[in-house]
Order: sequence, then structure tokens, then C-alpha cells
Amino acid sequence: MNDLRDVLEARRIVAAHLPETPMWSYPVLDAAVGAEVFVKHENVQPTGAFKVRGGINLLARMADRSRGVLTYSTGNHAQSIAYAARLYGVACSIVMPENPNPAKVAAVEALGATVEIAGATMVEAAEHARALAARTGRRLISPADEPDIIAGVGTLYFEVLTARPDLDAVFVPVGSGTGAAAACLVARALAPKCQVIGVQSAQAPAAHDSWRLGELVSRPMKTVVDGLATGSAFATPQAVMRDGLADFMLVSDDEIVRAQRMLLTEAHTLAEGAGAAALAALLARRERFAGRRVAVICTGANAGPAELARLLTT
Ligand SMILES: *Cc1c(COP(=O)(O)O)cnc(C)c1O
Repeated sequence: MNDLRDVLEARRIVAAHLPETPMWSYPVLDAAVGAEVFVKHENVQPTGAFKVRGGINLLARMADRSRGVLTYSTGNHAQSIAYAARLYGVACSIVMPENPNPAKVAAVEALGATVEIAGATMVEAAEHARALAARTGRRLISPADEPDIIAGVGTLYFEVLTARPDLDAVFVPVGSGTGAAAACLVARALAPKCQVIGVQSAQAPAAHDSWRLGELVSRPMKTVVDGLATGSAFATPQAVMRDGLADFMLVSDDEIVRAQRMLLTEAHTLAEGAGAAALAALLARRERFAGRRVAVICTGANAGPAELARLLTT
């Protein structure tokens, strides 16, 4: 299991490729929330999301890169692995379920990866990826059961908590849980008084319910928020979150849209739904955090055309 040493090692690797992302506060946002709010801007990563930190660390540490890599995802995980594979000159295939969003296929192909379409659902695409990896010898990369991904993502929380070791809380959107697990690891070592609070959509609560129940469960995915739509929980991040999270909140898709609009108007920031979930949770608990110092992680900016249209019409 990871500890801070793995994150420090990852920082050496990741910092060679990605500058630190900014963390700003905005007086109008502070006033709207009633707290001192720091927005960590992972929306400015070259792939538009924080996941690229994990992809770079995993590819950098891979023992035999000549095997090539393979993973399954339609979203930011796919772009992270494709970006890192290009950086290290590694052959990369991404399996996506049938009828993928053409923009997402194009984004991954532009990074030099091959897209393979297989299966009606992500579960079936994952099965196909497993079979393909067994046949071709490619390294199959799990979206979350990968300590090197968690350590790479930890560099984000290292930046947050070295800049502001005096935070009362950090709100982290959760899909598979790599981000929240990484936040727990870093906070435990650098800022044990800082509460790490996970946030998931009430319309896809697999990680939340698994944390509450203490066992890995699957749940229906009815959220339109891509980055948070995970149907079943992952063991590796859940094991770290178990003792590390102070709380795990659910927010509705409507609350997420309201927070997206607030980031646009008060923080000049385009967030995809998942990237606004942390602020949505803080807004839902604004009494409890009144006057406190809190960070919200704007994890990504990859809103598609339909999402943008929804955001700009009321
Ligand atoms: C993947 C993702 C998340 C959730 O991160 P996990 O590590 O899977 O919990 C949140 N926001 C965005 C933008 C993402 O791409």
C-alpha cells in the first residue's frame, strides 16, 4: 500500500512533465459560500483533468514498456493513459463500449492511441479488455486498483497541502476513489487536522455506499456526471478511504449543475460536472463550514457540447 514516500517519488516524476496547477480563491465565491474557499485548478491540465498525474506515474514506473498498455474507459482515464503512453513512446489501446462519443474517440486518437470498440456496456468492454490483454501480452491498466496511479494523483494533494497546511477540510469528488484515497494518504502525513470529505452523485452511489457499508458493492448509474459514474467500487482506494475519510457526501445532479454555474460566474472557471461536485457538497454543508478554510478540487473541465448547452440555458 502507498505512503507519502511513494507520493514524493511520484512528484519527482510528474513535476518533470507537468507544472504545479494554480490554487486561487475568489472574493465573490468566498462571499457566496460564507467560507474561505480555495479552488484547486486541475481543469488546466493538458488533458483537462487531474488523472494525467496518475497515468504519467504509472507509465514512468512500468518495468517493461515494450509490452504496450491497454485499458477501458470513455473518459478522462482514457486520455490520461493515452497522454502518458505518448510521452513514454508506449503502444496504447483503449477499449470503449459501442456507440462511443465521437469527440472522446477523437481526443484519444489524437494522442496516438488506438480505440477498440467492444461490448454494449463498460462492464462488457472491461471483459473484452481483459481477454485482449491475455491474448496480446499488453499490460492491462485498471482505472483504480493501481497503487502507482494513486501515488501519482497524490502529487495533487501534496501541492494543495504544502501550499495550505492550515486547511480545515478538502472536498474531493469520487468516482473510483483514486483521488480521495490519495488525499487521505497525503493529509495523514502532512495535515492530519485537515478533514478529507468524499463527494459522489446520489444518482451513482457505489463508492459512497461501499464506504458506508464497509464492503464493495455495485449500484445503478443514473447520473449524467461522467467522472462520477462508476457502477462498482474498487478495493484499493476503498481500503485507504476506510479510515482516511472524515465524511462521504452525496449531492444531486441538480446541485452539481448549480455549482458548475457558480464556478463559471464567480471563479471564471469551466468545470465539467465532476469538477464542480466538491463545491456542490460544500454549498450543501455551508453552515457547518461557515468561516472555515476549505479547498475544493476542480478535478476537470471536459464538458461535452450537450453538457455545455445545459449549463448555459436555464
Ligand atoms: C475520474 C474523475 C473524478 C473521480 O476520480 P476518481 O479517482 O475516479 O475517484 C472526478 N472528476 C473528474 C473530472 C474525473 O475525471
